[in-house]
Amino acid sequence: MADCIICKLIESKKDLLFEDDKVAVLLNPEPSAPGHILVVPKKHAPILEAVPDDVVGELFWNANRSSVCAFEALGAQGTNILVQNGIPAGQKSIMSLYMSFPVSRMMKSL
Ligand SMILES: [Zn+2]
Repeated sequence: MADCIICKLIESKKDLLFEDDKVAVLLNPEPSAPGHILVVPKKHAPILEAVPDDVVGELFWNANRSSVCAFEALGAQGTNILVQNGIPAGQKSIMSLYMSFPVSRMMKSL
């Protein structure tokens, strides 16, 4: 989608941490804390219901893998993985589904 910031970030590869054919993991351009990670479908989807079932599985698998990295590499003791599904549920106006977790909130210390 031409005016979607997430689609633009995926295309630019800016702050891209991982990608495969279905999912991208990248740093949040508007982080609530340093290292805030987004896990997004590579094909634009405004809400979770628009994401194919196999991609939903890949989103959660990548969120879990990113969480494991936070535990093992950053010393996190817990993680929050958020899915704000639609603007009334807290999704930002970027109009794209994303899963996010702010890394610094789950670390022992920075
Ligand atoms: Zn998009």
